[in-house]
Amino acid sequence: MSLIVQKYGGTSVGTLDRIRNVAARAIKAHRAGNQVVVTVSAMSGETNRLVALVEDLSGGNYSKREYDVVVSTGEQVSIGLLAIAIESLGVPARSYQGWQVRFVTDSVHSKARILDVESEKIRADLAEGRIVVVAGFQGMDQEGSVTTLGRGGSDTSAVALAAALEADFCDIYTDVDGVYTTDPRIVPKARKLDRISYEEMLEMASLGAKVLQTRSVELAMKYNVPVRVLSSLEEGTGTLLTKEDDVMEQVVVSAIAFNRDEAQITVQGVPDKPGVAALIFGTLADANINVDMIIQNISASSGDTDVTFTVPKGDYKQALAILKEPVGRIGATNVTGNPDIAKVSVIGVGMRSHSGVARRMFKALSADNINIRMISTSEIKISVVIDEKYMELAVRTLHQAFELDKDAGDRVRD
Ligand code: ADP
Ligand code: ASP
Ligand code: MG
Repeated sequence: MSLIVQKYGGTSVGTLDRIRNVAARAIKAHRAGNQVVVTVSAMSGETNRLVALVEDLSGGNYSKREYDVVVSTGEQVSIGLLAIAIESLGVPARSYQGWQVRFVTDSVHSKARILDVESEKIRADLAEGRIVVVAGFQGMDQEGSVTTLGRGGSDTSAVALAAALEADFCDIYTDVDGVYTTDPRIVPKARKLDRISYEEMLEMASLGAKVLQTRSVELAMKYNVPVRVLSSLEEGTGTLLTKEDDVMEQVVVSAIAFNRDEAQITVQGVPDKPGVAALIFGTLADANINVDMIIQNISASSGDTDVTFTVPKGDYKQALAILKEPVGRIGATNVTGNPDIAKVSVIGVGMRSHSGVARRMFKALSADNINIRMISTSEIKISVVIDEKYMELAVRTLHQAFELDKDAGDRVRD
């Protein structure tokens, strides 16, 4: 007998028929003799609808605590419906919201981190033969306020549950049948990967591949949770996340990721003296704004520098506003920005031991006349910021340049 955590995303519970399908799948695993915990997201489109209500009412100036109160409600509907669907097929089930189970989080509303999962209630229900249905995305902070885990957060709920319950499998069911070399909606020739290392999946997720939320991969890696990504609509073996050593085919580049959810900010004419960067980035950190790429280069002639960096698009206006005062104080000349950018990245653990990836990437982009605004690298990825309007073209071009549509053995290395 295994303990299985299954997670179903928005499209997988988007209609009553789809909810019946999920109920049947959970029951199949239960009848095969397993203990089954199901985590679900809100019905597709529902969280977007709730976010729009908050935005429209407030014009974007709202309390994030109350935002969480509103946007967490979508999952309450889907867990209740799923528990009803399971029981109507003759298997006892019980649903729980995040704060009932409980997912204890910090108080960073709208992007809270899980601190602890109390799983006693779930274990007791499983022991009594029930299928347990748990709301994804929701938590509760130590003061008892409802929190949410950030968009796409029900992946993280599922992995955290699987870690707490020491589950044998954490199966993430979605509308694609696994993790692909890039988003198959942009590149139809993208290939499904049978296995991917936690490290590469972490880079892919943090660089924009929405198939798994970044924190879910961090947790899976930390607690060694055996995560599989599978289709909720067809049978298949999906993609297994594994340790790097277990990935059979070592390729240089495994995947291309993209992200249009960032914006670029430049602080111009920054005096070249200690403490300036600490002030700029300290101001953003105090507002819980995550900074991604950073570029600074002192001008040899003027001695001043421009500091350019990216922030999430959702935080762009706030970041521009809160930087005005400190930037004036340090004597910088101006703060400007551009929200119409995209980041495109090539990822592969093979880059650690193979050179020439940057050359191939930049050559391919230049052949399509795509201008690079920023570059950043790590051991296993190279990212560029380009104009958003060229993003899809860049992804297709790079997918082809690294021959990701071919079998790994048939690719040319240079
Ligand atoms: P869910 O609602 O099930 O959580 P998501 O929309 O969050 O589903 O994630 C699944 C989507 O991720 C797919 O429909 C696909 O368009 C997108 N995606 C982006 N990059 C990839 C990739 N490399 N492999 C597979 N899917 C990807
Ligand atoms: N319903 C939430 C969202 O749309 C959580 C999730 O789908 O994982 O972001
Ligand atoms: Mg998702």
